[in-house]
Amino acid sequence: MRIVSCSRGIGVLLLMICLGLAGRAVQAGDSPAQPPRPQLLHPGLAPQATSILQQVALSYDPHLDSQARDRDFLQKIALAKELLSVTQLQDLRQQSLALLNNHEEVSWETLRLLKWPQGDRVGVVLSVPVWVPSQARRVDAYAGFEKKWQTVALTHPRPSGYVWFAGKLEDINNKARYRPERTQVEVNSRFAPLAALFLEYIFREGWYDVNRRVPLLVLRIAEDTWSVSAHRGPVMAECLSYPDRESATLDAVLVQGYFESMSELHHGRHVPVSNHRLGLALDVNDFNYKNVIDGNPNPVSNALRHYNRNAMHRLDARNLPAWVYNAAKWVGFRIPQEWLYTGLSADWPHFDVGTRKNGSGDH
Ligand SMILES: [Zn+2]
Repeated sequence: MRIVSCSRGIGVLLLMICLGLAGRAVQAGDSPAQPPRPQLLHPGLAPQATSILQQVALSYDPHLDSQARDRDFLQKIALAKELLSVTQLQDLRQQSLALLNNHEEVSWETLRLLKWPQGDRVGVVLSVPVWVPSQARRVDAYAGFEKKWQTVALTHPRPSGYVWFAGKLEDINNKARYRPERTQVEVNSRFAPLAALFLEYIFREGWYDVNRRVPLLVLRIAEDTWSVSAHRGPVMAECLSYPDRESATLDAVLVQGYFESMSELHHGRHVPVSNHRLGLALDVNDFNYKNVIDGNPNPVSNALRHYNRNAMHRLDARNLPAWVYNAAKWVGFRIPQEWLYTGLSADWPHFDVGTRKNGSGDH
């Protein structure tokens, strides 16, 4: 064991006190008077979506209890749908496909540059408030229409929002030290008000209640092929590995993964029928960990433990607790257990508008 010299020890102690104070300054309860709001990065590109976003902003009345917050959320969802003239979210898929009008292969790179009849551009950048762990840092992401994500990682076709990187599980689970930040994600402008409401609801819960802070480190909505840069890294990143692939057991081991570049951890490519290619699906905290068994929050799992969402969230806060899935149903999203992904596997942190096949009986 290495012995730390006295002066260095005091320095470390002072640093810890400073960090502690900084951490306290941004805690909710006594947070700044004005909460951060969802907004479009370039409002002029989509005046109608901008106007709807403003009209459906959630309330931050200091006296709102949990039930009152839920009522407010449900009212704003109803208002957003009325202003968008949609009854079920699946309508947005049909409208987007109609706008593409049989353009070769369905691609976000094509759709994003088109305009809705009302004049809004389809592709917009949504900026939303999120909670992140104290050590989290920002990493830019890129998108393109490429067969392989590696091409995007190496050539950076164009910028596409960013992710927050936090490597240590202890830091990820330390909610009292979280800080409010923003993230940016591309989205279909007709979907933007509904996606924003869902994300704002998650953020607002953490504003009122430290225990209900959920770190939203990775948000991905509109994209064909997406990655962070292959030139960022290497990094160490922790996650849990569950030796039992199928049962509900929560026995896990901590794995410290070494990644040559951050793109190994953050990348993806969607199939042509995916709602992501229309800007109508959300992936929340989707990672690509390697060398783990059913390591969560990896996206695909057969294990029963995933139904025990609150227990999973306590082990690793990046797992979404049950109330997030309830909120998703209130918006009208199709949620993971409602569809089979490949065989028996479910694509867990994914929310979307559904498809024609399953959409008719949708809620
Ligand atoms: Zn997805």
